[in-house]
Amino acid sequence: MNSFNTFGLAAPILRALAEENYVTPTAIQSKALPPALAGRDLIGIAQTGTGKTAAFALPILNRLAADPRSPEKKSCRALVLSPTRELSAQIHDSFRTYGRHLRLASALAIGGVPIGRQVRALMGGVGVLVATPGRLIDLVRTNALRLNGVETLVLDEADRMLDMGFIQDIRAIVAKLPVARQTLMFSATMPREIAALAGEMLREPAQVAATPVATTAERIAQRVIHTDRAAKPRLLVEVLRAEPIERALVFTRTKHGADKVVRSLAKAGVEAEAIHGNKSQSQRERVMAAFRSGRVRVLIATDIAARGIDVDGVSHVINYDLPNIPESYVHRIGRTARAGAEGVAISFCDAEEADYLRNIEKLIRKSLPASGERRGASTSAPQRSVPSRPPADASARAPATGRRRQRGRGRDAAAEGGASAAAGEGRSAWPRFLRRPGATRRDPAAPTGAAER
Ligand code: AMP
Repeated sequence: MNSFNTFGLAAPILRALAEENYVTPTAIQSKALPPALAGRDLIGIAQTGTGKTAAFALPILNRLAADPRSPEKKSCRALVLSPTRELSAQIHDSFRTYGRHLRLASALAIGGVPIGRQVRALMGGVGVLVATPGRLIDLVRTNALRLNGVETLVLDEADRMLDMGFIQDIRAIVAKLPVARQTLMFSATMPREIAALAGEMLREPAQVAATPVATTAERIAQRVIHTDRAAKPRLLVEVLRAEPIERALVFTRTKHGADKVVRSLAKAGVEAEAIHGNKSQSQRERVMAAFRSGRVRVLIATDIAARGIDVDGVSHVINYDLPNIPESYVHRIGRTARAGAEGVAISFCDAEEADYLRNIEKLIRKSLPASGERRGASTSAPQRSVPSRPPADASARAPATGRRRQRGRGRDAAAEGGASAAAGEGRSAWPRFLRRPGATRRDPAAPTGAAER
């Protein structure tokens, strides 16, 4: 299917897609839309960046367009659960975008912001509610929301929800839903627990997959620069000056490291902002808006904070620190090269990170070309102002050829488990429905945890 016109979507939805310049459905959309539009349950293996949001949003919107009755008070007709605030907010934005020509009432229920406005938004009922599990449970517990009118349930990034300890929450939520419903589950990986969950919650699901995790990186020009730890700040400035940056996402392993990078870039005259778990929700929203609009072109992030960041036009991902979990590398670089665009991923690797690099190369089954080794305080990179636009000619971004190291080509041992930098993060104390009102707990969506120090 190479056009959206072939799926039988309602005209107002097609109009919105045309306005967004969506011409060709992505692979996951082509595969998921027919069964989902036919009302079937579905399990989709796809990561962020594959177009999976539209793959579940369009069938939901189409159902609401075909049957436009008002929702019951304090209820929702479609419920989308996602693990993080950022991802939930982006999914909600997507629904509003694709549904802008429909009379769609929608709401976003995430932690970290006062609940009052969410309670009011649900008062009259909504067509679509996008939520993180913890806040959803709070709303149900306080009778601000009933789940017995849900016609479609979406579980997005199911493997992340598992990593973040939300599975019991999800089971409890699903137990409150009508049995006769459509369930769409999306996950980047399919560990045993997710397959088991799908077996419990889905009925004869259609199974569709986009590009598997280890091969998503193919459109991205990747390279590594071997360096001393001490030379990294200088190296980053050089790379940002030398590369045709449209938007760069720079990953550090720790929150502290992210702030340090912002400061060292400021000293070199490069404006950058950081996003991590110590920032308030409003700070994060402000930073994301500045990055999205292009006012800030360099964003420093930790893995957990970066989850769900979905910004088009990220031309470069820079791994200032290599991740110790190889899957995080694939998730990180997947932030560039979205929806068919090309992207560049540059990784700084110091001596202590050599093992991490080896594991990454095993996972992606290729060795990363190395260029421009830096030791000490080197300065000789070509000077270009930050930020300039990328050239139309993609070859200008081709990785510099350098020392190519042959790494082990072992089987992808780690891919199956979907291990996450966040393993153990936010293990929530269930059952929440039984929890004392006002009892303190971690905000499930708060991006703090093991990987973010
Ligand atoms: P997602 O995986 O849903 O987060 O989508 C990744 C990005 O691709 C988002 O910025 C979408 O706006 C964009 N996108 C999704 N589907 C299409 C499409 N068919 N054509 C062009 N862009 C798309």
